Amino acid sequence: MNQPTDQPMDHAHLAGVGEGTRAAHAGVPPRAPYEPPFPGPVFTSHYHLPGDPAGAPYTYGRDGNPTWTRLEEALAELESPGAPAHAVAFASGMGALSAVALSLLRPGEAVVVPADAYNLVGGVLREQLADYGIEVRAAPTAGDAQLALLDGARLLWLETPSNPGLDVCDIRRLAAAAHERGALVAVDNTLATPLGQRPLELGADLAMASGTKALTGHADLLLGYAAARDEAIAARLRLWRKTTGAVPGPMEAWLAHRSLATLELRTARQAANALAVARALRERPEVSGLRHPGLAQDPAYAVAAGQMSRFGCVVSFTLPGREFAERFLAALRLVDDATSFGGVRSSAERRGRWGGDAVPEGFIRLSVGVEDAADLVADLLRALDTAG
Ligand SMILES: *Cc1c(COP(=O)(O)O)cnc(C)c1O
Repeated sequence: MNQPTDQPMDHAHLAGVGEGTRAAHAGVPPRAPYEPPFPGPVFTSHYHLPGDPAGAPYTYGRDGNPTWTRLEEALAELESPGAPAHAVAFASGMGALSAVALSLLRPGEAVVVPADAYNLVGGVLREQLADYGIEVRAAPTAGDAQLALLDGARLLWLETPSNPGLDVCDIRRLAAAAHERGALVAVDNTLATPLGQRPLELGADLAMASGTKALTGHADLLLGYAAARDEAIAARLRLWRKTTGAVPGPMEAWLAHRSLATLELRTARQAANALAVARALRERPEVSGLRHPGLAQDPAYAVAAGQMSRFGCVVSFTLPGREFAERFLAALRLVDDATSFGGVRSSAERRGRWGGDAVPEGFIRLSVGVEDAADLVADLLRALDTAG
């Protein structure tokens, strides 16, 4: 029933459409009489497989599943609307990110990473790479500082905007410089989502992301993916996924695909809400170091505006100390004190509680949801009053 085949899906009907149309239709199978328009998850560990398995689209559940195929078609369409691309889905963002690093790098090669990357990348993954004899060079995201470390590197790893600091680097400029030196370029696109920024169009070889956050937006699953236009890169990622078994569950893949239909609605609303919240918080004397790449006064704004079409849902700022920040979080009624970000319900956390990021004790990462902006602003300002 509605089984995808190894024939590439025909995307002709999505050529030139708007972002909302693309998000709603990406990866949806062609119409077939009496079939469901959006088929449910396929739960299976194996497939009927007569005779020679060579060329069979589905053999065993670790290698492929029609529910993944449809999600991957959608993700490739979103990350690269104008040119064919391949997406590979993983069990989590870290599954995808480690697949990129560990399948593309060999001992003796060098990778340039952001010093302010997502904490597991800056910590665990960096250590793992060093253990495998891979040289790890780190420089901050802001000011394109990684530029100075590119000579002799095999892979340039970018994360922009960075989590949680919200610094931005110039993907076009860095990708061109890396390619001149023969390095591949991979961009962690978790914060922006492909409706906010498309690294492949800006010159990167890979867009990779956690699908756990804003991409799926309902805080009900873990998922990751990497997308590339080069089929050889995608093949390596699929082989890595099969070898490590970092496969997404069919239910997660289906929920993720289902959420994409509202990606345009959610990201538009969340970006508008984030801007409203950032503008309101900027007026408050307790708030320092306020960052949001969509604020015209933000140090990242000029570069962000050149490569992002939406600026994401995260606002970060610093309150006067740990106790103040804890009182603020406890006083919020509409904003959960929780980690992660990108969900339809707002959340915030004192990032320093994890110990992995170089941030002040009073540093708050706020993820703005789809509530009404006026209600969120009122809740945040009231909580600041209570904490003060
Ligand atoms: C959350 C996150 C990840 C890891 O994704 P998981 O789905 O939690 O494994 C990677 N990069 C960034 C920027 C993230 O925010």
